[in-house]
Amino acid sequence: MTRLGVMGGTFDPIHHGHLVTAEEARVQFDLDRVLFIPSGHPPHKDPADITPSEHRYLMTFLATVSNPHISVSRLEIDRSGPSYTIDTIRLLAAEFAGAELFYITGADAIMQIMRGEWERSPELLEMCEFIAATRPGFVLDLDVLRRHNCTGRPLVNVHVMAIPALAISSTEIRARVRTHRPIKYLVPEAVEAYIVKHGLYREDSWRREPSGG
Ligand code: ATP
Ligand code: MG
Repeated sequence: MTRLGVMGGTFDPIHHGHLVTAEEARVQFDLDRVLFIPSGHPPHKDPADITPSEHRYLMTFLATVSNPHISVSRLEIDRSGPSYTIDTIRLLAAEFAGAELFYITGADAIMQIMRGEWERSPELLEMCEFIAATRPGFVLDLDVLRRHNCTGRPLVNVHVMAIPALAISSTEIRARVRTHRPIKYLVPEAVEAYIVKHGLYREDSWRREPSGG
């Protein structure tokens, strides 16, 4: 049976924290491949605060192009309306019928799901396996997860994964660009080049859809 990892996120921009998380999950959980799914319209974020999805998709593509086990899906960015993970997982379960799905998150995201803050969280928690990665700044262990369990049943399908700590966030990357501080070695080189080329995250950023190259 194929073991398919799914990594959702805004990826605004993608950084080495995301990539280390996905690669560690792939190896620790013996996944055949990992699908990155940049969100189209994150339900809890103001669209004006988010970079156009085509930029985020292309940066995610560039960041993962050299890894034969990772691919990037347009599923959410090509869908109109809010991007609810539960809808995405439903679609993937139908598309990859027979595959075992593993939704990969960082500690902050799994805690939101466990507290019931995502759309239809209890239902989502029934639909696949979850791999919850440690993340600097967030406490993650089985006791904490159990205390915030919105489902009222034992969570045998939620797995905690320790990864090398990378205190990187997209928020910090955006702030660094805005204040002219370096982002080299925090994001893949191609992503850094893309950010510079398109003037993303600058105070005077055009925030236009990409055109051509
Ligand atoms: P932002 O600061 O804009 O929220 P982010 O860095 O949190 O960006 P997201 O796109 O929100 O990135 O996160 C996508 C997924 O990756 C989430 O499950 C998040 O918990 C996880 N993640 C992000 N950064 C890390 C990191 N440094 N270590 C582990 N997991 C991470
Ligand atoms: Mg985040």
